[in-house]
This record gives sequence, C-alpha cells and structure tokens, in this order.
Amino acid sequence: MKKINETFICIHCGREVPLAPKTCRNHCPFCFTSLHVDGEIPWDRASTCGGKMVPIAYEIKNADYKILFRCEKCGKQHRNKRAEDDEITLLPEVLKISSK
Ligand SMILES: [Zn+2]
Ligand SMILES: [Zn+2]
Repeated sequence: MKKINETFICIHCGREVPLAPKTCRNHCPFCFTSLHVDGEIPWDRASTCGGKMVPIAYEIKNADYKILFRCEKCGKQHRNKRAEDDEITLLPEVLKISSK
C-alpha cells in the first residue's frame, strides 16, 4: 500500500492544497472537500467512485475534531480526523453553506 501525499488543486474551491506536515492529506484545508477515493480503509485509494465528499457534521473528541463526510455521488459516509493545518475555524461556516 502506497500512501499518497502531494499537492493538488481543490476541485471545490480551486485553491492549491499544500502538503500536510505529518499525515496524508485527503481533504482541502479551506473548504474541507475531498474526493471519494478510499474504500473501507482510509487512504487505501480502493474506491473507484470519484464523487465529491463534503463535510456534513463534526464532533470534538479529546480536544480533536472528527469530521463526518458524505459522498455526493454514492452517499457513503466516513469520519476523518482534521489535519493539523486545517483552517478549522472555517468548518462551522462551511457546514452552514453545504447544508443549505
Ligand atoms: Zn477547497
Ligand atoms: Zn462515493
């Protein structure tokens, strides 16, 4: 299994997403959108769906954010930790927008 950690242009907001400092990034730190590329294991890149995963909710556990994403295409949901350099203060605003 090869972990992928590279810069990419966000499909949602169009910003260049920088490398994550420690973990493999799989969502945009600005709008929290990602692509549905993972299967059952995070970062396995086993899914061929390719739909847009958008954040629909979050919870704070042990002072860490867990974000719930849902695929717009197939409806699959999965939870992910925030990345260290996410603009986490933007998250409540992003959720307000995407729930409209
Ligand atoms: Zn984005
Ligand atoms: Zn999907």
